[in-house]
Amino acid sequence: MFESLSEKLSGIFDTLTRRGALTEADVNVALREVRRALLEADVALEVVRSFTDKVKAAAVGANVVKSVTPGQMVVKIVHDQLVEMLGTEAVPISLDSLPPVAILMVGLQGSGKTTTTAKIARRLTDKEKRKVLLASLDTRRPAAMEQLAVLAKQVGVDALPIVAGQSAVQIARRAMEAARLGGYDVVMLDTAGRVTIDEALMAEVAQVKAATDPHEVLLVADSLTGQDAVNTARAFDSRLGVTGIVLTRMDGDGRGGAALSMRAVTGKPIKLVGTGEKIDALEDFHPRRVANRILG
Ligand code: GDP
Repeated sequence: MFESLSEKLSGIFDTLTRRGALTEADVNVALREVRRALLEADVALEVVRSFTDKVKAAAVGANVVKSVTPGQMVVKIVHDQLVEMLGTEAVPISLDSLPPVAILMVGLQGSGKTTTTAKIARRLTDKEKRKVLLASLDTRRPAAMEQLAVLAKQVGVDALPIVAGQSAVQIARRAMEAARLGGYDVVMLDTAGRVTIDEALMAEVAQVKAATDPHEVLLVADSLTGQDAVNTARAFDSRLGVTGIVLTRMDGDGRGGAALSMRAVTGKPIKLVGTGEKIDALEDFHPRRVANRILG
């Protein structure tokens, strides 16, 4: 992840650290390059603008400490601004509510929603010792319901039995009831996805949300789609109120535009990232670690 951006930025800062004193002109040249590198990484234009403005404001007014070179100082400022842009602290999934806690999984078809649902279920079961029930609400795609059932078996959690002919809201209500009766801690509701956002999908998920009062509404988005992932997140958030984002396919994302813009554009935290097809390929999103990785 972030390989290409990391390479470009380190090249820019290498030239800075080799110089003696740092002039405003040096900062301007470096920032122009940083701006270009971020745009090539597919970071949203508005985010790039505010980022470079903040770096510049901090760099120009900065008192250079004796122990570091002015170039190192700029790298530190860029690092701090990256951390801020990414959300500063990791934000874990919250289960801080009366059980059964509902987690609503939303997103476009193919984003990795069903796989991610199983990955999270595995993590909650193994690491947090929670009793988890999975339910697929994808009434239009029987194969998706089967897929969740297969994955549930694979990770060793229960899946709500499939009953043909029920609506998404009916399945969701049945899941909540089964969870109450069965003493489950968490119910994960895997909603239907579509290839593009449409009103029918949003209306259906909104109904499910109203019926289940989920503690988390997690949007799953494919990092490889770059700014489309960010726009998708914004659309889902404005209609449904998202509490967090899971970015999938980060294992194949050398650019990182979605990861870098998501928090700044949507105001919502990236809680987890998917880093592969395997069921344990799920990681927390730590802004500081990500910034360290980018700046090498
Ligand atoms: P859904 O339609 O949103 O439910 O998508 P699926 O969960 O069926 O995932 C679609 C494909 O993406 C599957 O082949 C998954 O194995 C794959 N996938 C999901 N998450 C990741 C990830 O983080 N990395 C990689 N490389 N593949 C993933």
